[in-house]
Amino acid sequence: MNPESQVKPDPRRSLPAVGRLARAVRERVPELPDWACAEAARQLLDALRASMGRGEHPWAADPGALAERAEAAARELARIRPGPVVNATGIAIHTNLGRAPLAPGAVAAAAAAAGYSDLELDLASGERGDRSAAVALKLERLSGAEAALVANNNAAALLLALDTLARGREVVVSRGELVEIGGSFRVPDVMERAGVRLVEVGTTNRTHLRDYEQAIGAETALLLKVHRSNFEQRGYVAEVELGALAALGRERGLPVVEDLGSATLVNLARHGFPPEADAGSRLRLGADVVCFSGDKLLGGPQAGLVLGRRAVLDAMRRNPLARALRLDKLGLAALDWTLGCLLAGREREIPVLRQLTTPAAELMARARALAERLADLGTEGVELGCLPERAFVGGGTLPGFALDSWVVTVSSRVRSAAALAAQLRVGDPPVVARVRDGRVLLDVRTLLPGDEGRVEAALRAALEPPAV
Ligand SMILES: *Cc1c(COP(=O)(O)O)cnc(C)c1O
Repeated sequence: MNPESQVKPDPRRSLPAVGRLARAVRERVPELPDWACAEAARQLLDALRASMGRGEHPWAADPGALAERAEAAARELARIRPGPVVNATGIAIHTNLGRAPLAPGAVAAAAAAAGYSDLELDLASGERGDRSAAVALKLERLSGAEAALVANNNAAALLLALDTLARGREVVVSRGELVEIGGSFRVPDVMERAGVRLVEVGTTNRTHLRDYEQAIGAETALLLKVHRSNFEQRGYVAEVELGALAALGRERGLPVVEDLGSATLVNLARHGFPPEADAGSRLRLGADVVCFSGDKLLGGPQAGLVLGRRAVLDAMRRNPLARALRLDKLGLAALDWTLGCLLAGREREIPVLRQLTTPAAELMARARALAERLADLGTEGVELGCLPERAFVGGGTLPGFALDSWVVTVSSRVRSAAALAAQLRVGDPPVVARVRDGRVLLDVRTLLPGDEGRVEAALRAALEPPAV
């Protein structure tokens, strides 16, 4: 036996009990809830015991450091999540940051509907009302569609369309469009769950009309087209245009559904947006049904928007799954406000559309103004600058479509850019920025009104030594 192990006490025995550590945290910060103090203490002590058991001697044998760590963990547990962050990445539709930010008007509409509302009551007659009639009417007016319906998100919309139109039968899709969107959404998997049989046609890079023609048989229920939301194909490629596919569908009596992923309901071609981003134009090319997300380019709440032929949409509405996949009242109210804003031609009030259409000259002026506010920090080993940058739209939309943007750059001689970015991320509010070439890049394109002040405060807190 190793004589040392007899004399040396097990370090785990020096750790306090969970209750004692939890009390120490509550004494430091009385407003923290009991459950968070207890949970933080338990998690921290579990982790410490485990690492001590592996023979490691972690940082926190001393009670002061232990209580400080537990307090930070309790604060994090007590925080409401998701909570607000400042998006300084330049990526307007950032999946990890909640995609499209809602306009203040949409937020107010959702808040107003959060209590009792006329969600399913027709106030004039006192009879039961249709919860989505108001948004459907606006969607029809914006897109020219015969009918519209909404689901919880676009994945739900596609599932509902496939289940309604093709359950137990075959759906023909190009191999070039069997995409994975991220966050585990894969077109073939959704099709399997919808109980449809996938018939792949063409090759990864080339699919022709004759490929679809040859695949159509007695079991075929529909032709599906999926937008390549997050990648581009270049080189020796061929795909069948929607118009040609729709003509084939009409000839064979088969519905054509297009999953657009992301789309707008206003024409942004003058801002350089690709024409397929306009949902109404896809219907005019002959699609029977198109679906897309509410919180990508549309700039509204999470939702799945479906536009198309009335008979098809009525069948989708009657599908028992529709109830399971429906949009909630907060989303409906925020969506209604957003659509009303588009109908009134006020698209600049929608943050995503405003961000994506702001000219580079205006962004340059904003970046310079922000750098000016921070100028006094540019001393003692801190370097500040302004640079033109390319920003992507993000969120699996418009791949290959980069926008000219402007960034404020920050670097410090005493701290790495990654360490500075990490400190900004845990600030209050957190600021999320990019790091490149040893610098933190703060892109002004995605800053919302009032964010400049928050960025300034966050940078001051991160760079200035604390006052003693
Ligand atoms: C984003 C996307 C989806 C999923 O939409 P959600 O609203 O996230 O459910 C489906 N299909 C395509 C092509 C997409 O780009």
